[in-house]
Amino acid sequence: MQIWQIKKEIIEIGRRLWQKGFVAANDGNISVRLSDNVILTTATGVSKGFMTEEMIVKVDMNGKPLERSAKHKPSSEVKMHLEIYRQRSDIKAVVHAHPPYATSFAVAGISLDRCVLPEAVVFLGSVPIAEFGLPSTEEVPQKIRPHVKHSEAILLANHGALTFGSDLMNAYFKMETLEHTAHIIWNAMQLGRVNVLSEQVTEQLMELRSRYGLAGSISKCQSEPIQINQASEKMASALSEEQINQIKAAIFKQLKDKT
Ligand SMILES: [Zn+2]
Repeated sequence: MQIWQIKKEIIEIGRRLWQKGFVAANDGNISVRLSDNVILTTATGVSKGFMTEEMIVKVDMNGKPLERSAKHKPSSEVKMHLEIYRQRSDIKAVVHAHPPYATSFAVAGISLDRCVLPEAVVFLGSVPIAEFGLPSTEEVPQKIRPHVKHSEAILLANHGALTFGSDLMNAYFKMETLEHTAHIIWNAMQLGRVNVLSEQVTEQLMELRSRYGLAGSISKCQSEPIQINQASEKMASALSEEQINQIKAAIFKQLKDKT
């Protein structure tokens, strides 16, 4: 694929993320690996629904812009994308968004690690939650680090979701599957029961993965039932006072930069 085609695809995926309500305002970011040391990433401070080609910038594996003339700066969240590319040579694209249902699970501290829907078992497996890291700092790559090798979708505590794959479409479809699954599990929780697939069915579904040559690495989901009323008490203390103050300071800074 030519670079202009890849940029066109990034613009299209950005539009879909925005249209589906997976991002608000300037949230989210998308990247594609062009070669071992060259990544295309969306710029900081732009709506993913209205991107143009110059809002997609080239960076190296340290996140440094490669084109001096570029008008736009790379997304400050590109650090977490780079962490994934560093650990996984099979990954060629990363999508980060804040889809409401998946993010709600990330906020509630409930990981999507149960085998509930066949497609999710095959394409996502068990989806862990990475601990909270202050957006745009080194904390985020640090917190996702333990999960990257065995997942292709990660929830980010009190933040959003991250999906990655063999190409951009593949990474984006994982985001759709993740949000769709979270929405359905959420609905089933309101109805009072979430039945999970048996271990035997799960095994068969995982076999399909190898039979269809699905690349990538995911962990098997759990077949124990979800305890609906025991959802998480631990989250009340998940953010320290210091972290809350850091978030406040970062938000104020962003607002100040924009005015
Ligand atoms: Zn985010």
